[in-house]
Amino acid sequence: MSTSILIVEDEPAIRELIAVNLRHSGYLPLQAEDVASARVQIDTALPDLVLLDWMLPDQSGIDLARRLRSDPRTRELPIIMLTARAEESDKLAGFDVGADDYVTKPFSPRELMARIRALLRRRSPEATDDPVEVAGLRLEPDTFRVFGDGRPVELSPTEFRLLHYLMKHADRVLSRAKLLDNVWGDHVFIEERTVDVHIRRLRLALQASGHDRLIETVRGGGYRFLPA
Ligand code: CA
Repeated sequence: MSTSILIVEDEPAIRELIAVNLRHSGYLPLQAEDVASARVQIDTALPDLVLLDWMLPDQSGIDLARRLRSDPRTRELPIIMLTARAEESDKLAGFDVGADDYVTKPFSPRELMARIRALLRRRSPEATDDPVEVAGLRLEPDTFRVFGDGRPVELSPTEFRLLHYLMKHADRVLSRAKLLDNVWGDHVFIEERTVDVHIRRLRLALQASGHDRLIETVRGGGYRFLPA
């Protein structure tokens, strides 16, 4: 379950440098050379984070950031602006349209990776490898293992990701569309009832330890993982 990061940058050398560093850090780099291409990619599958250059050939990165923030589907997508501009007023404009962080070129790849890690920790805890435990149900992302009251639970990769997302967002009502976007990374090509099929399998797998009771169906809403 690699964390995908979309690099929107028109200079191939910078894009490639960032991609190489992302790969080294265990992320999955996706690349777009302009706003149009970035939008097609984001429409197809939501990345976990966007690195967004300010000056792009078709539109400015600021325009794209503004658009992402105004769409409920992408409102919470973490964005780091990349820019050659160092003016304070430009930086403020970047934060104004909802960028989460701001890195001025030339930047050190190490600093950029540190900013990415920090932002992911802050904005999408499910993208980190910390174990999560709720009411005796424990999930370990780094080893892909799940335990119900200490006994191993066998899950497919999809059910594992689904459970991870549910546990990380306990007590919130999660619509099928939101689950598709965040667990499958795609809202276009998969039918919403796919979610129900995997929830059913997940409940079956959790039945032995009784943890299936933690997954609640919310009529007309989706699903909710009970906090305890
Ligand atoms: Ca540029």
